[in-house]
Amino acid sequence: MELLLPPALRNLRQALEKLPGIGPRSALRIIQSLLKKPEHIHSLLSALEEVVQSVHTCPNCGFWTESEGFCDVCTDPHRDHTTLCIVKDAADVLAIERSQAFRGKYHVLGGVIDPLSGVGEKDLRLEQLWERLKKESYEELIFALGTSPEAETTTYYIARHLIDWHGRLSRFASGIPVGSELEYIDPLTLSRSLRERQPLTL
Ligand SMILES: [Zn+2]
Repeated sequence: MELLLPPALRNLRQALEKLPGIGPRSALRIIQSLLKKPEHIHSLLSALEEVVQSVHTCPNCGFWTESEGFCDVCTDPHRDHTTLCIVKDAADVLAIERSQAFRGKYHVLGGVIDPLSGVGEKDLRLEQLWERLKKESYEELIFALGTSPEAETTTYYIARHLIDWHGRLSRFASGIPVGSELEYIDPLTLSRSLRERQPLTL
């Protein structure tokens, strides 16, 4: 099969397989569907081009933005400036926003500490977090990193670092299955878990 596939399609398949959740079979299914409707290729190309040209990471919180400066959440004067929610990825911000249970600010770490995958604390946006806690006036920090062992390690790494910080540390209540990613949790569970959040104890 490999030899029969034209080199350009082989390249495309390899590129697609690098994306999360896409294996060799689904890569081929995507290729097949794109080749049946060439207009989909053009719209995908222009959407990707636009993303490359205009989307940045907010230098403050790490969420996506099209502006050169801070993102819409960071610049929104109506958001609660006293609560900061720490999440793993930008998509988690969207998941929590869908729950409509949180009106504070976010800090996107860009991952969790995972030595087996080569992700250490230096790879996360921790320096930016320490800076924000010095400059901005938060009273509560909510950990929403998920329930994987790596998320737990990261939560406690940050909590230990903040042992002398003046504010409250809390985490989502139970209800989120162990090992699950925030973005797959339904908004109702997420909102309950956020409302019933618990103090984080070391
Ligand atoms: Zn921001």
